[in-house]
Amino acid sequence: MRQNAWASADHDKVKRIMAFSEEYKKFLDSAKTEREAIDTLVNEAEAKGYRELSALVAAGGTVRPGDRVYSVWMNKSIVLFRIGTEKLENGMNILGAHIDSPRLDVKQNPLYEEGGFAYLDTHYYGGIKKYLYVATPLALHGVVVKKDGTTVILSVGEDADEPVFFVSDLLIHLSQELMQKTAAQVVEGEALDLIIGSRPFVIRKEEKEEEDPSLAEMTEGQRRAVLAEREAGKEKKLLTGAVRRGILSILYDEYGFEEDDFLSAELEIVPAGKARDAGFDRSMVLAYGQDDRVCAYPSFRAMDEAKELTRTACCILVDKEEIGSVGATGMQSRFFENAVAELLALAGEDSGLALRRCLANSCMLSSDVCSAFDPVYASAFEKKNAGFLGEGLALTKYTGSRGKSGSNDANAEYIAHLRRILDDRGIRFQTAELGRVDLGGGGTIAYILAKYGMNVIDCGVPVLNMHALYEVTSKADIYELLLGYVAFLEEASLRS
Ligand code: MN
Ligand code: MN
Repeated sequence: MRQNAWASADHDKVKRIMAFSEEYKKFLDSAKTEREAIDTLVNEAEAKGYRELSALVAAGGTVRPGDRVYSVWMNKSIVLFRIGTEKLENGMNILGAHIDSPRLDVKQNPLYEEGGFAYLDTHYYGGIKKYLYVATPLALHGVVVKKDGTTVILSVGEDADEPVFFVSDLLIHLSQELMQKTAAQVVEGEALDLIIGSRPFVIRKEEKEEEDPSLAEMTEGQRRAVLAEREAGKEKKLLTGAVRRGILSILYDEYGFEEDDFLSAELEIVPAGKARDAGFDRSMVLAYGQDDRVCAYPSFRAMDEAKELTRTACCILVDKEEIGSVGATGMQSRFFENAVAELLALAGEDSGLALRRCLANSCMLSSDVCSAFDPVYASAFEKKNAGFLGEGLALTKYTGSRGKSGSNDANAEYIAHLRRILDDRGIRFQTAELGRVDLGGGGTIAYILAKYGMNVIDCGVPVLNMHALYEVTSKADIYELLLGYVAFLEEASLRS
């Protein structure tokens, strides 16, 4: 039953697989955080004729078959619709992926100096092996929102001429005690502090005089640092460190924000660098954040590639999946339901009952990744039911842990419906279970949409090294996934 997707691909198909992976890698590079993913996709969506939902509502507009509409929530989640010919209350075909990934987040009062280094203190986000984050080049992405409402957008460490940042690692020569600890404790959460500088900005004595000629030659940031120092001296406050002072003057000069502005910042620390081909045969992509951008991008693209639509196509790309889908931008938020309600009104189907029918009658692919069988750690998997790299898109009936707990267990009738759609088009698919029973567990957004009573199943590609700094996928699987998503949007029609 298992078949390798490369083996059955002819020359032309291999070319299409490789071409799509180039576009995918470009997306990965431009979208390393959820905010960057939204920015990138909104630009693309507008170019493809999507109109913004609230603007449409404000203008008293309507929607008709063929129209494209999108709505962004708090710059971190998006829902896109392509209106089909059938009434909305008969249900939609929904692709839902997440665009957040595990990383380190900068704390609210992050900056400190110790032993000649300036640091940003962090709190990790999502499930990570903390020891992976030491002694590796890291980049800083995010926003600093100032009190006047202006936003400073940061991305430092990606281009070859930009500096990177790092977390230190204790040298092996002195690690005798450290090496006795378990892997979970060898690098503690509070040890994940980012080194961001080491050069002191020394204020010479004469510069503290009232009439200081060197002040005139300083940058605005340095001048402010000197004046703050004097102020602190006058008030007998503790003097701040010189490295820290230097960093603050650079932040002011180059990015226009001050230390207090960290309070209202969202800065994410991710592995630096671009997505890469892996293997002599270039069959794989090695990159940060493929869980779940490897599903998010094909989901977004399938909205465009799908041809005639009977049912309305919908693509949801959400934040916060890695920490339980909570918060206003997570899947548990009502923003999606609200957007559907607005859409129904624009389509002239404005009623609470129509909303319930629309959601209950929908079909969903929870576009999320599954684990890939790893021969080196074979005992962690049950081979008959594991996902294999290169064997096509993967359907995961259930996730959860300890007896499927917390899982959406997809209906057999729905799986049969999808098998027919995929087989009719010769799309390679496999089924995948996370790993050996009782070894661990995980979840996706599937169970949340299932609350509406709609048919939902997880559908993505296997990922090797999931949640490591660099995750690995098969280019052949990614292309089958795109084809599968297109087939689903065009043909799924099962009503609950
Ligand atoms: Mn995921
Ligand atoms: Mn994940």
